[in-house]
Amino acid sequence: MKPAPFEIERPTLLVDALRLLAAHAGEARLIAGGQSLVPLMNLRMATPALLIDLNRVEGLQGIRVDGPWLRIGAMTRQQRLMHDSLVAAHAPLVARAMPHVGHVQTRNRGTIGGSLAHADPSAELPVSMVALGAIMRVQSASRERHIPAREFFKDILSTALEPDEVLVEVSIPRAPIDTRASFVEFARRHGDFAIASCAAQFVPDARTPRLELALGGVGNVPHLCSRLAATLAEAGFSRARLAPAIDAEVALLMPMEDLQADAALRRQLARVALDACLTEILP
Ligand code: FAD
Repeated sequence: MKPAPFEIERPTLLVDALRLLAAHAGEARLIAGGQSLVPLMNLRMATPALLIDLNRVEGLQGIRVDGPWLRIGAMTRQQRLMHDSLVAAHAPLVARAMPHVGHVQTRNRGTIGGSLAHADPSAELPVSMVALGAIMRVQSASRERHIPAREFFKDILSTALEPDEVLVEVSIPRAPIDTRASFVEFARRHGDFAIASCAAQFVPDARTPRLELALGGVGNVPHLCSRLAATLAEAGFSRARLAPAIDAEVALLMPMEDLQADAALRRQLARVALDACLTEILP
């Protein structure tokens, strides 16, 4: 199929993109890498009358260290995330997740902002941002907001973004140098969306060691495993407590069922992914 007829605008300044979005909120869609929106348009599941192309907007790409933060422009391509030295050094979990995101062809065009705004519950970047406690900076023509990733994803393909808002930048707390990260995923083929995935990092800080982990593909939004992290912290991250703590977290899941897997299989894959991640990163 082919998309319904649409107009396209190609602003070069963010202020113009925001003005266009405000003037056409509800009938316009932003397009970034097009790797999710264009298939939806071809299936007529999205029929925007106007596309606002972000690809020429200045200032939306780039990766930089800013104090305790790693700041990533929303239009930064996924392939760049995969190979960037700042990402490897300060957000090793993202570096571990990126090889699972689609294929080199889709990563060359796809962006971090598009993946997060698209909000597929099986996508690797959303679950990683929830695990890391990232912050999204969004702008409209009239205001700027900072939305924690843990409040950003609302439902399948649904976020806290308002129709007139652009996701401009993602800020990730820089990981200390001895942080251990792990990303485990089960998918039918490499490059497919995850049936179940686990994103985890352990900061072995002498005074307050910290475990951050989340599950993808097992609910309508990424599932932050805060109870599991707290239980293991209380037990001094002893491996003896791993199995019962994982079982208690998995019991909280309400996995969706589809052609790929039923709820029981997703729970089992989540259990195995959690065990694999934690075995890799815990002391
Ligand atoms: P687009 O498709 O351009 O836009 C997606 C949505 O986000 C649209 O609604 C758009 O309006 C909105 N949007 C885009 N940018 C912004 C912004 N800055 N602010 C606000 N809204 C915005 N993804 C995975 O995570 N894992 C996979 O395994 C995977 N496999 C794939 C396999 C194939 C064959 C293909 C084609 C895609 C796959 N993808 C996968 C999806 C891919 O990662 C997309 O790039 C991503 O989901 C969307 O990013 P994009 O830049 O292409 O956004």
